[in-house]
Amino acid sequence: MSAAEIKMVRSTAEINRENLEAVLRGRFFYAPAFDLYGGVSGLYDYGPPGCAFQANVIDVWRKHFILEEDMLEVDCTMLTPFEVLKTSGHVDKFSDWMCRDFNTGEIFRADHLVEEVLEARLKGDKEARGLLEDANASAQEDNNKKKRKNKVKQIKAVKLEDDVVKEYEEILAKIDGYSGEELGQLMEKYNVGNPVTGESLEAPRAFNLMFETAIGPSGQLRGFLRPETAQGQFLNFNKLLEFNNSKTPFASASIGKSFRNEISPRAGLLRVREFLMAEIEHFLDPEDKSHPRFAEVKDTKLSFLPREVQQAGSTEPIVMSIGEAVKTKLVDNETLGYFIARIAKFLLTIGVDETKMRFRQHMANEMAHYAADCWDGELKTSYGWIECVGCADRSAYDLTVHSNKTKQKLVVRQKLDTPVEVKKWEIDLTKKLFGPKFRKDAPKVEAYLLNLSQAELKAKSEELKANEKIIFQVDGIEGNLELDGNFITIEERTKTEHVREFVPNVIEPSFGIGRIIYSVFEHSFWNRPEDTARSVLSFPPLVAPSKVLLVPLSNHKDLAPITAQISKLLRAEKIPFKVDDSGVSIGKRYARNDELGTPFGITIDFASIKDGSVTLRERDSTKQVRGSATDIIGAIREITYNGVSWDEGTKDLAPFVSQSETV
Ligand code: AMP
Repeated sequence: MSAAEIKMVRSTAEINRENLEAVLRGRFFYAPAFDLYGGVSGLYDYGPPGCAFQANVIDVWRKHFILEEDMLEVDCTMLTPFEVLKTSGHVDKFSDWMCRDFNTGEIFRADHLVEEVLEARLKGDKEARGLLEDANASAQEDNNKKKRKNKVKQIKAVKLEDDVVKEYEEILAKIDGYSGEELGQLMEKYNVGNPVTGESLEAPRAFNLMFETAIGPSGQLRGFLRPETAQGQFLNFNKLLEFNNSKTPFASASIGKSFRNEISPRAGLLRVREFLMAEIEHFLDPEDKSHPRFAEVKDTKLSFLPREVQQAGSTEPIVMSIGEAVKTKLVDNETLGYFIARIAKFLLTIGVDETKMRFRQHMANEMAHYAADCWDGELKTSYGWIECVGCADRSAYDLTVHSNKTKQKLVVRQKLDTPVEVKKWEIDLTKKLFGPKFRKDAPKVEAYLLNLSQAELKAKSEELKANEKIIFQVDGIEGNLELDGNFITIEERTKTEHVREFVPNVIEPSFGIGRIIYSVFEHSFWNRPEDTARSVLSFPPLVAPSKVLLVPLSNHKDLAPITAQISKLLRAEKIPFKVDDSGVSIGKRYARNDELGTPFGITIDFASIKDGSVTLRERDSTKQVRGSATDIIGAIREITYNGVSWDEGTKDLAPFVSQSETV
């Protein structure tokens, strides 16, 4: 089969998930963690091929984003104090809706439950419609009227009315945007209860997804395992800006584990409680969201699922170039568009099937209130369309809240070519009075007052005018503090500014590496049509866990020296390989290896001893060519690391047709 034909087989065949999982677990790509103890849902360990695959994906990510865009990488701690996540909004808002079954104690995630139940009903309806058609068609021949009537009655019981089907489809298209209350109403209206017993459930209530812990032995310092890597990047903003010679725009990036106490993690690697994230925070001027390299990506054609389309109850995507999407304001700005296109390119490089990738816009009520626009890179799997990369314009929210809380400026200062006149609130302190009044706390009080925002100064000036004093609290000092006009003066003054100061906005592409990896597993998996028991994982060579299987034809001792010699050459080229001298048939060894997704096989036979030539086999097409070890390794290197095609890379090697693929 040609590469195009193989791609078609992979794209169109319905994935046999059981079969894929058997291969992935059988070959130890990953396995449930702690399975000797019965396992814990949502926790997985990666085995050797899983680790190698993940390391390769991360390597591509690092080169594609960090190196290509000159991003500033940071590695921040996972343990995060309570205050940070309180300020970021996670303590109050980072939750999903759960509902409990009073009788069985089972817990369900409300949106997933509604989705599951409605989808099952729609599936039943679709089957019933088919059966009804068949029943009507066979009505003529079926002379047992009573039997036929009964059959039709049974079928009609699961068939839904046309308008109900439409309602269900509309709800499913909007399922990510419902509040807890709305989910409760849907459950009541459509009688969604425990899927097994049918019993109704408790109304949905918010469940915070963070794992809480205490830092240090006293138990006093509350903390959490971070639910994302982003906060560490925001908190290091000033240092990163300085590192970047105070220039914007710039981006930071971080790769590390995050933790979420998912309500019911069921979809294998897709919904886990501990997972690897790769996140970028691109800091830019709120008044200029253009991107200098946008022209390079503007013609990239992508599938978009805009907010309005979902709102109308449809899931039909629109295909257009990212240039067009930004021009028509479907995507809010160039930088957001630039990242969407770069995300798509990254996903395709590591083996995502283009026909199973789309970008879905968040609906207004799904998006955080501060976000200007948000798109999810979704990949189609046997579990449905899955959000694998989030790409949001988070405006100035994060830096603003941390700055307000800590009273530290998190801003960019830009020298102005022409100075401007601005009106500004200012506070003057009569410092000599502060010491006697506040004693050791005086510096804290002064710092608090000098760091008030413009809005706070305005409010305090009004308070001072109305009450002849201001009342306030300062972190670390007990009780209310009071000051009158002898201590402070607050005025709005006209100033000439030579520097523009602004809080940068943030565009945040956020990747869930495990979800992406699993999707690539599904998109790469197929069975050979000529022998459906043989499965293949067609990873791009660049990310395949190992690149070469080195196969001596037999375990005859005469083949050992040349095997060692080729191993040495491969090691020198830093090409990961495995030797399989297990002695089982060549076909069996290849088949085993196809399941590991190794793109190349080098076979060593007795002719190799004489003339140094070896055979190179390509995993997907099973095509073989013959040449010297050096030429073959050169071809492998070019195809794997330099994006050269098989045909191009092996054009100077001789075709070879003798080794049998029989298992
Ligand atoms: P979010 O911050 O919720 O937008 O998540 C960012 C990315 O993390 C998502 O696009 C997913 O790829 C990934 N992710 C979120 N939750 C999980 C989870 N429970 N298991 C695996 N990956 C996840």
